[in-house]
Amino acid sequence: MKVMKFGGTSVGSPERMKAVASMVASDTEHPVFIVLSAMSGTTNSLIEISNYLYKKNTDGANEVINNLERKYKQHVEELYSTDEYKTKAHEFIRNEFNYLRSFTKDLFTSFEEKNIIAQGEIISTNMMTYYLLENGIKATLLSALDFMRTDKNAEPDLHYLKEKLSVVMKENQGYDVYITQGFICRNAYGEVDNLQRGGSDFTASLIGAALPADEIQIWTDIDGMHNNDPRFVEKTDAIHQLNFEEAAELAYFGAKILHPTCVQPAKYAGIPVRLKNTMDPAAEGTIIDNVLIKGKIKAVAAKDKITAIKIKSSRMLFATGFLRKIFEIFESYQTPIDMITTSEVGVSMSIDNCAHLNEIVDELKKYGTVTVDTDMCIVCVVGDLEWSNIGFETLVLDAMKDIPIRMISYGGSNYNISFLIKASDKKRALQSLSDVLFNK
Ligand code: ADP
Ligand code: ASP
Ligand code: MG
Repeated sequence: MKVMKFGGTSVGSPERMKAVASMVASDTEHPVFIVLSAMSGTTNSLIEISNYLYKKNTDGANEVINNLERKYKQHVEELYSTDEYKTKAHEFIRNEFNYLRSFTKDLFTSFEEKNIIAQGEIISTNMMTYYLLENGIKATLLSALDFMRTDKNAEPDLHYLKEKLSVVMKENQGYDVYITQGFICRNAYGEVDNLQRGGSDFTASLIGAALPADEIQIWTDIDGMHNNDPRFVEKTDAIHQLNFEEAAELAYFGAKILHPTCVQPAKYAGIPVRLKNTMDPAAEGTIIDNVLIKGKIKAVAAKDKITAIKIKSSRMLFATGFLRKIFEIFESYQTPIDMITTSEVGVSMSIDNCAHLNEIVDELKKYGTVTVDTDMCIVCVVGDLEWSNIGFETLVLDAMKDIPIRMISYGGSNYNISFLIKASDKKRALQSLSDVLFNK
């Protein structure tokens, strides 16, 4: 069986939903398992509603709810052609929005927020199921809340998922299309939760690994992973093949097409991931698998909102255990370190979660002089950069020659070389890397 995940823009309008449905229905390999995001813009609106409710601004929340409901009523009119399904879908939408309105009366906490945010995927999957059924397709909706669960560390519980999904699949045999929600799950306490923004990719990969599927397809609004960020760089091209490690580095370092955690489950299960364009299904897209093309630089990505922290210390303090003490401070505030460089007198690190920056800096001051640089970004070059391959460093540095560089990191893996630069230099750096590495 194959898993197909359709992102927000792929199901972003009735017209797009119809296109997805017809593609899924005409697929020659049934059954298929499809994972859907919320229609584009919906999760943002649900977060906006929650933000109003946190501030006890009921009028603000009601206005967003009303606008969203108006939009969905229109979608129902456009999507379904029979009175039977129009009536069913209108009733479903009415219940959903009454449910959203019920939160405007009560105490509002993150528990209520998670329930509100989950409705985007619940709505899109119900609408798609009705549409497939209206068109005579043997489809069934499986609630992700019945099998997708995170543990006490907020990590997906793959063991639970495998067990539960296998029971659910046995109870629902004989369908051509299985549908479920991306993004949403239950946490270790059984409450409704989610896998973080963009997490539907992660859902698809986890389900693919649990089934196990033959292939995991991520359908989006672009023809695969490009060799640089098309939002900032002119002339980028789709890459036809990536190794799992290369794809994981690119996703982690900002290639938005893939959620940072999406590659791991597929990689461990050895299931290829294919990135495809819903607007252009004939385009080849990108296959992510175990193959590694020797000595090839594949792509560039950038990760935003990075802060650099430097601790300069006297030589004495640089004795055994110094780095451990530094790392323990970051660990105690659950703040992961992205990049690290060391010298005899100091250590520089970068983080992307600044929630506890002040506390971390205060504690680090015990060990030396601390300097913080904000508004930075990591630019990362990915490919087969095994250290015995020669020449790639010169090429990459040549592309970066006009950019002030705060940190360089290479050697942590065979697949990337990263630079920490000012956010204001990001676009220039990405363009120059594309010009030198790919467009010459
Ligand atoms: P979806 O809603 O389908 O999950 P996303 O918006 O999360 O889609 O991801 C697709 C977008 O990722 C593309 O429209 C593109 O602008 C952006 N993107 C960023 N970097 C890359 C890259 N290297 N290759 C392809 N797309 C990228
Ligand atoms: N709907 C969620 C979001 O907008 C999850 C996803 O689309 O992957 O972040
Ligand atoms: Mg996405």
